[in-house]
Amino acid sequence: MEIKAIPLGQIKTNCYLVSSQKAAIVIDPGFADEQTESFLRANADKERMILLTHAHFDHIGDALRLSRVTQTEIAIGELDNPALSDATVNLSYMFDVQTEPFSADLLFKDGDEYTIGDLKLRVILTPGHTKGGVCYLSGDKLFSGDTLFFESVGRTDLPGGDFSVLEESVLRLFELDDKIKVFPGHGQETTIGHEKKFNPYVRVGRKL
Ligand SMILES: [Zn+2]
Repeated sequence: MEIKAIPLGQIKTNCYLVSSQKAAIVIDPGFADEQTESFLRANADKERMILLTHAHFDHIGDALRLSRVTQTEIAIGELDNPALSDATVNLSYMFDVQTEPFSADLLFKDGDEYTIGDLKLRVILTPGHTKGGVCYLSGDKLFSGDTLFFESVGRTDLPGGDFSVLEESVLRLFELDDKIKVFPGHGQETTIGHEKKFNPYVRVGRKL
């Protein structure tokens, strides 16, 4: 699996281009960029998908347009799907950006397994930053959205946010193998093992 991060927009939201022999996936296309479109076009012979980790404007903003121009389906966790058409919850209103309301083509639940081409995905529901944010695990790679960052976690002061819920979600991620590489929605890559040791916001054993 090849992974390319493209930080997009003013808050440098990581959009990921994930490819393998038979799959081409764009994760969180928050802003229009020539690379996302050309990536999907160049891989038209593979199974393609646009995956959204959660419904915040900086992760979803270009998904509908990109889906239309490349005929690629969009997937999101089912509990965040309503926020795709709610400018207050997806923060378009607060940040004064225009996002056309839409609904995803595929809605995931916690624990869903889904195969795109030759890539297997496991969906892990990780609420707390939003009501229905999900992480996607494929092999030893985790796309963590705004749930878990390098030595940080997503903010919980926005609509649908709740720190104790986020803490539970991160603790669930900490049950994964230490070697799993984490590709977050903002900032640099990390690993589950590194975060278990050094994340100052959620510590194994501090709660419960
Ligand atoms: Zn977010």
